[in-house]
Amino acid sequence: HHHVDHATSASITRAVNDKELHPEIPAYKDFETYQAEGGYDLLRRILNGGMPREDIIATMRESDLRGLGGAGFRAGLKWHIMQSQVHPRLMAINGDEGEPGTFKDRYYLETDPHRFIEGMLIGAWVGECETSYIYIRDEYPAIIEMLKRELPKVQADGLADHCRLEIRRGAGAYICGEESAMLESIEGKRGYPRHKPPFPTEVGLFGLPTLSHNVETVYWVRDILEKGAEWFTSQGRHERKGLRTFSVSGRVREPGVKLAPAGITAHELIEEYCGGMLEGHSFKGYLPGGASGGIMPASLGDVPLDFDTLQPYDCFIGSAAIVVLSDQDDIKNVVRNLMRFFEDESCGQCTPCRTGTEKAVQLLEAQSWDTDLLEELSTVMMDSSICGLGQAAPNPLLCALKYFPEESRS
Ligand code: SF4
Repeated sequence: HHHVDHATSASITRAVNDKELHPEIPAYKDFETYQAEGGYDLLRRILNGGMPREDIIATMRESDLRGLGGAGFRAGLKWHIMQSQVHPRLMAINGDEGEPGTFKDRYYLETDPHRFIEGMLIGAWVGECETSYIYIRDEYPAIIEMLKRELPKVQADGLADHCRLEIRRGAGAYICGEESAMLESIEGKRGYPRHKPPFPTEVGLFGLPTLSHNVETVYWVRDILEKGAEWFTSQGRHERKGLRTFSVSGRVREPGVKLAPAGITAHELIEEYCGGMLEGHSFKGYLPGGASGGIMPASLGDVPLDFDTLQPYDCFIGSAAIVVLSDQDDIKNVVRNLMRFFEDESCGQCTPCRTGTEKAVQLLEAQSWDTDLLEELSTVMMDSSICGLGQAAPNPLLCALKYFPEESRS
C-alpha cells in the first residue's frame, strides 16, 4: 500500500528486494544457537535478582539510548517514569515499520530475533509489565511465523514467566505505526491517533500504563547492559554519541541496512558505507527521515545525522531512513509522490490533514505551483493536525521550496 512511485519507490523497492539482505526464508539465529552463544544469560541473571532495577535504569540512562522508531524519546527515562505508575502495567512493541524507506527492524528480526526478545523481556521485567503485545506489520508474515516458532521456546524455558506474550498483526495502514494509533489497533479499534497528553506511560493500552518501544530500541538493551553504557556512548562522530541503524536506499551503489556512528554525515555514509553514488548519478540531495523528515540538499551533505541535528534545517531523522536523490530525480515529482502517499495514508480523523493533503495534491499536480497558497496550506496543516502525519506531510514540499527554488518555484 506504500506507493511512493517514480524515483523514490524504485530505489526503495530495490533495497527492500535485495535477496541477499532479505532472503525469503530468513536464516535467523534460533533459540538454541542464540543461547549457546551466551544469549539469555543476562536475562537469567536479572530474573534471579542479580541486577537491581535502579542499576539497569541508571545504565540505560547513561547510554542515552533513544526511541529508534523515530520519536527519539529517551528509553531510560521512560523506564524510570514507569516505576511510579499504577499496576497492572502493559508493554507494547511497535514492529509496524511503515515509514517509507525503513527496513531495519525487519533486518534485525530476520537475523537475530532473540536479541530483540531478550531486550523486550528485560524491559518488561524492569517496567513490571504483565503482558507484552508485539505488533508486527501485516507485510511481514515470515516474521510473524518465526515469532510463533521461537516465542514458545523462550516460554518453555521459563524466561517469560514474568510477562505474557501476545503477537498482534498490523492492520496494513501506515498510520498504525503512530504510537497511539497502534495502541488503538491492538485494542481492536480503528487506528485513529489519540490526542497527547496523556502519554502511554500513564494511560496506554486499555487505559493502563504502557511501556511502548520500537523493535530496535529494545534490540540494543542486551548489548548496552552487557558492555556498559560507555561502550555505546564512546561511538559516534562529530560530537554525537551512540550507534544508529540507517536504512539507505536510492541512488547509491550498495543500498541496505548500515550500522554506523550517530552523527555520521550523508556524504560519509554514501562514500564509506554505500560504495558511493550509482554510476552516472551525481548527489543532489536526500530524504533524511523517510517520507516525513523533509528533503536536504547536497549542499547540506556534511550535517551530522542524528536526533536534533537537523532541526535547524526544518528536517528530522526519524527512523533514519536515508533516501539518496541524484540529478536524475525530479524534485517536483518527489514532492508530489510523497504528498500522494500522505493523502492515501491520512486516517481522515481531522480536517486539516484529510482535506489538506487532498488539496495539496491537486495544487502540486499543476504545471507551475501556486507557492503562496501551498505555503499557507502547509502552515494550517502543521499547526492544526492531530498527529505527526498531518504535521509532517508538508515537510518535503517546504524543503523543496526552500532548498530547490529553481525547480520548485518555476
Ligand atoms: Fe489522522 Fe491525519 Fe489527523 Fe493524524 S493528522 S489524526 S493521520 S487525519
